Amino acid sequence: MDRINTKDIKAWNAEYMFHPFADPNAIAKDKPLIIEEGRGALVFDIDGKEYIDGQGGLWNVNAGHGRKEIIEAITAQLNKLQYYSLFGGTTHGPAIELSKLLVDLTAQEGMTQAFFSTGGSEAVESAMKLARQYWKLAGKPERTKFISLHRAYHGVAFGGLSANGTPAFRQAFEPLMPGFFRTETPYVYRNPFTDDPAELAHICATLLDRLIEDQSPNTVAAFIAEPIQGAGGLIVPPAEFWPLVRKVCDKHGILLIADEVVTGFGRTGSMFGSRLWGVAPDIMVFAKGINSGYVPLGATMFNARIEQAFRKAENAWFMHGNTYLAHPLACAAALANLDIVVKEDLAANAASVGGYFLDRLNAMQQRQPHVGDVRGKGLMIGVELVADKKTKAAFTSDDQFGAKVSKRCRDHGVLVRNIYDTFIISPPLILTRAQVDRMVDVMDEALTFQTRAYAKG
Ligand code: PMP
Repeated sequence: MDRINTKDIKAWNAEYMFHPFADPNAIAKDKPLIIEEGRGALVFDIDGKEYIDGQGGLWNVNAGHGRKEIIEAITAQLNKLQYYSLFGGTTHGPAIELSKLLVDLTAQEGMTQAFFSTGGSEAVESAMKLARQYWKLAGKPERTKFISLHRAYHGVAFGGLSANGTPAFRQAFEPLMPGFFRTETPYVYRNPFTDDPAELAHICATLLDRLIEDQSPNTVAAFIAEPIQGAGGLIVPPAEFWPLVRKVCDKHGILLIADEVVTGFGRTGSMFGSRLWGVAPDIMVFAKGINSGYVPLGATMFNARIEQAFRKAENAWFMHGNTYLAHPLACAAALANLDIVVKEDLAANAASVGGYFLDRLNAMQQRQPHVGDVRGKGLMIGVELVADKKTKAAFTSDDQFGAKVSKRCRDHGVLVRNIYDTFIISPPLILTRAQVDRMVDVMDEALTFQTRAYAKG
């Protein structure tokens, strides 16, 4: 078949494809940007226009686009073996090597086993199934409930969906799974309790404790949370929060699941979000940055507590897994990607370039009347836009303020994601200071432009 021409591609855009997280009518009117090439922290559209990839694909392209080392590793694997099953007594080298590497990388957190999947949502489901089966093996089958945070995002499968803390992500698909409960998230900028971060951490940890007491601790399997909340609005908890959560979980014997799908592998300036807070969870959930999005992959890691429950039991089958888990190409990509992450110390680059980014955004906040809050760690940064800085009043959905600013940034060669008037900045971790300067200059101009338009009404 002849290569389809650019004209057809443009004409068919959003005509035959139902898009994720989109209103089909809106997207048909305002068609998605067609990305054709990627190089480092840059991407190019179908007309050859260059953009800084401020969203890092979907906060997953940590090592950058078009990395030769990763492409060569995938190609070499493809020439050897494109697929083999991990079910029923077979396996392959890349999965074995990757499991060893992941256990080594998470030694500080005490992970001893890796279970693979094809992405974040599945990795979350694996974590929940492991937690439930763990309690059955431990002789406490009534421990089945899950607790999560308001504004949490744990993917789109029914388990993770039932734990999600943003109603808009859940409502169209109700009824959800029974046995899921949510508690307050330590959102420093907006909460009904206090402006003091340390106090807020204590209050939220106490509310978690009370919810567990209310449900009866011996019915709760696990607490699941993101070390820094992502899709729910980029919420960085106070430093005290996670250590307190670990204490509350330990007090009640509850498993702690860290959903590190975004925070894993350097994004926050630390190798893992859990490490940033100095906490060892029982289960760590990975995807995205594990191989920078070259081939879909997820991993669910767990510690000796869970491993031993399975090993000590007789016939403790884990009856879970799917065809493409630990796909050889995905594992080969992960091995090459993690080599880059470690050798180039991308976590350190994220910390220093991210610090510079925050400084520049904080300065921008001073002169921009609609920048309510700037927050982040490493290269996981949120900029919350508000109608009124003093009252923190949000824009109405009719204003489309964030969407318009984000569109103007795009027109000027910078991609930043807007979620409910919070800009999500999550570029590749190889980003340079010069690219930060360009991003901030473009955002600054777009905000000034939209502020004038908004004032005129
Ligand atoms: N957990 C978190 C914290 C996420 O941010 C995401 C996706 N953004 C998921 C789970 C789901 O991952 P996936 O989209 O790969 O299924």
